[in-house]
Amino acid sequence: MLEELRLIVQRVSAAGDLSEVLEIIVSSVKSSLNVSVCSIYLHDQMLNRYLLMATRGLNQEAVGNVFLGPKEGLVGMVASREEPINLEKADSHPNYQYIPETGEERYSSFLGVPIIHHRHVLGVLVVQQVDQRRFDEGEEAFLITLSAQLSGTIAHAESTGDLVQLIRPLSGSGGEIEFHGLAGAPGVSIGEAVIISPVADLYAVESIEARSVKVELEEYHQAVESTRKDIWDMAHGLSGIINEQERLLFTAYVQMLDDHSLGKEVKQRIHQGASAQSAWSEVIIAHARKFDVMEDAYLKERAADLRDLGRRVLGHMQESVQQETVYPENAILVGEELSAATLGMVPVEKLAGLVSIKGSTNSHLAILARAMGIPTVVGVQGLRYGRLRGKKLIIDGYRGHVYINPTEEHISHYQAIREDDRQLLSELETLRDEPAVSLDNHKVRMLVNTGLMADVRISLERGAEGVGLYRSEVPFFSRQRFPTEEEQRQFYREQLEAFYPRPVVMRTLDIGGDKALPYFPIEEANPFLGWRGIRITLDHPEIFLAQVRAMMKASIGFDNLRLLIPMISSVKELEMALELIYRAYDELTEEDHLDIKMPRIGAMIEVPSAIFLARELARRVDFLSVGSNDLTQYILAVDRNNPQVADLYQAMHPAVLSAINHVVKAAHAEGKNAGVCGELAGDPLGALLLLAMGYDSLSMNASNLLKVKAVIRKSNISEIRLLLREILHLPDADAVREALLEVVTDPEVRRYINVAPGLG
Ligand code: PEP
Ligand code: MG
Repeated sequence: MLEELRLIVQRVSAAGDLSEVLEIIVSSVKSSLNVSVCSIYLHDQMLNRYLLMATRGLNQEAVGNVFLGPKEGLVGMVASREEPINLEKADSHPNYQYIPETGEERYSSFLGVPIIHHRHVLGVLVVQQVDQRRFDEGEEAFLITLSAQLSGTIAHAESTGDLVQLIRPLSGSGGEIEFHGLAGAPGVSIGEAVIISPVADLYAVESIEARSVKVELEEYHQAVESTRKDIWDMAHGLSGIINEQERLLFTAYVQMLDDHSLGKEVKQRIHQGASAQSAWSEVIIAHARKFDVMEDAYLKERAADLRDLGRRVLGHMQESVQQETVYPENAILVGEELSAATLGMVPVEKLAGLVSIKGSTNSHLAILARAMGIPTVVGVQGLRYGRLRGKKLIIDGYRGHVYINPTEEHISHYQAIREDDRQLLSELETLRDEPAVSLDNHKVRMLVNTGLMADVRISLERGAEGVGLYRSEVPFFSRQRFPTEEEQRQFYREQLEAFYPRPVVMRTLDIGGDKALPYFPIEEANPFLGWRGIRITLDHPEIFLAQVRAMMKASIGFDNLRLLIPMISSVKELEMALELIYRAYDELTEEDHLDIKMPRIGAMIEVPSAIFLARELARRVDFLSVGSNDLTQYILAVDRNNPQVADLYQAMHPAVLSAINHVVKAAHAEGKNAGVCGELAGDPLGALLLLAMGYDSLSMNASNLLKVKAVIRKSNISEIRLLLREILHLPDADAVREALLEVVTDPEVRRYINVAPGLG
C-alpha cells in the first residue's frame, strides 16, 4: 500500500493542473483498491455545495453537473460530520440519496472520507463497490492518507483561483469569478481590464541564424537605445507624480542595460556566433533564474524587473513593439508581472487599478501604487488573464480580492464602499487641523509612517503632526549600491524640510528579515531570527556612521530630527549604537565644526526581550517606540508574511497587548515618552486601546490618520481604561474586539471602524 501511495503522490506532484490531479486520483484509487467507483466531490464555496468533479465508474456526463448540499446524501453527511463513513449497505442508510444522472447502479458498499485542510472541508473522496462488503481498515487508512495529501493540493488550487476556474469555467456562464491575492495598495476600484502583455516572449525566441557579428551587434545596440528612451519617456510621463527618489527606480532599470553588466555577456555571445535575439534572451533568462531561486522576497522581485526589461529590448529587436493602446476611462491594468515602469504607460487620470499575477507587497509596483493611491492587488496566482481584455473588474485593494464579471449585487456593494470611502474622506478632511483629543480630554500626537516622497504629500494633506517612523531603508531599495553619505544627506533633508517644523523620527537602516538590498544579499535559514536591523549596522559601523552623519547634517537649521534604533534586543546593543551616534555627533561638531543640535534618540521595542528590558532601555534613551508588527510576530511566533498562519497573526492578541501595556508603564516610570508605530496604531480600535494604556503618540499610514483621529475625538478613553484589565485577560483577539465594540456604541464611530475593511 505504501508503495502504491508513493506512486500516486509522485504522479500527482508531476501533474500539470488540478483537473489532471483529480483524474490521476480517481483512476489510481479505482485500480489500487479494485473498486467499482472512485469519485471526488469538491466544495463550491460560493454556492455551498459539493460538486462531482471527477469519477471512474459513474457516468462521465454527471461530472460538473451533479451536486449535493452540505448535509445532503452520504457525501453531504461525510462533509458535515468531518469524518469517514463506511457502509456495507449504503442504500439502506436514511441519508442515502439515489441520483439517476450518475447512472449509478445500486452500488452496495460506500466509503467516503472528507478532504480537510486547516479545519476546512474542501471535498469528499468516495469509493463504492457493487458487492455488499465493508471496506476494511487498511482501505480506509489508505483513503484517509491520500485525502490528507490531496488536501494541500486542493487548498493551493483554491487559493490560486484554479479551483474556482475548474468549478465555474470563465468561458461558460459569464458569471462572476472571484480571485484572491495580496493587498498591494488599499482602496476599491471598478473598471475595465487592460491586458499588458509582454512585448515579446523571451522564452519563445526562435533559434535564428546569426548574420554577421557587426549586424547582430548593431541590432542589439539599437534595441537597447530605443528601450532606454522608452523608459525615460515613461519616467517623464510620471514627472510631477513621483519625485527624484522614485525616479531612481527608473534609473536602476536603465542601468541594468549598461555595457558593463548584461551588455558584456550579450556581446560575448554574439561574438561567439549567437544572434542578437538569442544572446539577449539567454542572458536575461539565466540572470532572472538566479534571482528566482533566492529566498529573499525583495531579490525575487528583481527577477520580474529583469524579465520586463528583457522583453522590452527583445520587442525592439523583433520590431513588434505594441501598438498604441487606447485606454478606457477606468483602466485596470492586468499582467503577468507588472513592473513599476508599467505605471508610466497609462495616462494617470485613466489609471483605476492594478492587478499583477506575480509580485508581492514588497514589490516596487506595490510601493509606488500605495504612494500614488492606486488600488492594487498582487500575487493573484492562477488568474488566467489572457481572456480578460475588456472585461469588467472590481479590485478590492483592502483585502486583495479581484472580481471578474462582477454581479450587479457586488458592483453596487463596491460602489457603495467607494462612495463611502470618498464621502468619509471629505468629511474627515474637516478634521485636518483639529487636535486628536478624546471627549474626556485625552490627547495623543498623530504621526505618520513614511518612506517614499510620495507619502509626504498625503501626510501633510491629512494634517500629520510629524513623522513617527521614516523607514530609511526604502530609498536604499531603489539603487544599485549603497547611497553615498552626500546622497543620503540630500534625501533625508528633503523629508526633514517637507515636515519642518514638525518632528521627523528617522529610523536607522532596518534591513534583513524580508527586506534585503539587491546589492547586499543575505542568505539565512531563518532571516527573521537572523541578521536584521541594528545587528547588521553594528557589524558594519561604516554604514551606520555614514547614515547617522548624513541624517545629522541634513537636520542643520531644521533641528527637527529624532533618531530611532530598530530591533534592539539587549542593553549592550543599545549602548553600542548610542556610542556610535555620539561619535558621529562629536566628529561633526568638534572636528567639522558644524552647528548641529543633538537629536533625541529612541529605541524600538519590537523583540520580546526588549519588553522585559523596557525600563533599562528607557533609562538610556529619550523615548520608546513600539513596533507592533514585529512584536506581534515574535511574541506569537507567527511569521508576519506567511499566509498559512495569517489568521494567527493578531496584533490585538491579549499577550501582545499585555506586552505593549507594560512598555508604556516602563517608559513613563523613567519619565520618558512612548509611542506605537506599527499597524496597530492605525487601527481605530487598536488606537483607542493604546490611548487607554497612556501612549503619547501614534504613528501610522497616512491613509488611516483622519479616521483614527475621528474615532478618538468621539470616544471616552476613561471608559476603555476601565475595561483594560479585563481585556488583557480575554482569550483571544476576537474577544478583545467584541469587548471594545460593546463600549464603542456611537453609530458614527462604528462607521469609521467598519469602513476599513483591510483592518477588519
Ligand atoms: C514594526 O515592526 O512594527 C515596524 C513599525 O517596523 P517594520 O514594519 O518596518 O518592521
Ligand atoms: Mg519592525
